[in-house]
Amino acid sequence: MRIDFHCHVFRVLNSREAIQKQFDGFQGYGFYERMLLTIKNVKSIKTNDVIEKTLFHVKKAGIDKVVLLPLSIKENDVVKNWYKAAPEVFIPFFNPPEKINGDQSPETIIEKALKEDEYRGLKIMLPFRKKHLNDKILYPALEMAQQHDVPVVMHAGYPPPGTKKQVLTYSNPIKIVDFIDSFPKLNLVIAHMGFPWVDVAISLAMQYQSVYLDVSNLTYMMPRRLKDFLMRAREIIGLDKILFGSDTFVPEMIEVTARYFNDVSFLSREEVKKILGLNAKRLLHL
Ligand SMILES: [Zn+2]
Repeated sequence: MRIDFHCHVFRVLNSREAIQKQFDGFQGYGFYERMLLTIKNVKSIKTNDVIEKTLFHVKKAGIDKVVLLPLSIKENDVVKNWYKAAPEVFIPFFNPPEKINGDQSPETIIEKALKEDEYRGLKIMLPFRKKHLNDKILYPALEMAQQHDVPVVMHAGYPPPGTKKQVLTYSNPIKIVDFIDSFPKLNLVIAHMGFPWVDVAISLAMQYQSVYLDVSNLTYMMPRRLKDFLMRAREIIGLDKILFGSDTFVPEMIEVTARYFNDVSFLSREEVKKILGLNAKRLLHL
């Protein structure tokens, strides 16, 4: 089973135009050139339905399940709608509120999301709101995730290209040591292997059984270095805690990210299977 553990909802249909527009000003950057070149060679379908287009590329990539991560509270409903459109493929995660909403506490809202609305995990975006990963505002969400035995994906490390907000200051994964002992049964996923704090992230995964790392967006942002990161992880912690994630800007790119693992000679077939899905399957109790 292949599982994409880190995907967002898409809103655009014309991928080439979208990338060109989104990355105006990145000419000359390695990832920009590679993206434009590679998506040109990915066959797509003509449709006005972006969910249909996404499912088309997910299928072509040989991916069975896709974890959908909301970027903010506002995207929770969008994620839910995508899930309803293809519940056999999409696994919805929830962006937890930090404040009381009306008379509802964050705990009440999260509990409802996990129990009644079928969300299967939480996505944390604190560094984008100038908060460190150990901010106490997060504790109710961590408590609920632990109670319901669902994983928490934390944005850690560098933000997507073009981000104007000050994110790096707040996204060092080392901060999780401040709370991790308080939530011993909580499974935590450090996104992007915490880049540029990859060794910190690997060390955290070494010390704490509950810490996982996803490789989201590294397949296309820094494919050569990803090899090095995976070798470092294998040497120290093995590859049982490494999760595949696409984290792309357009649906076509999902295929490109999965293809990275078709061609790798430095991993065994068994290791590729673990990264591409078996580790995530275990974590999601599928
Ligand atoms: Zn992401």
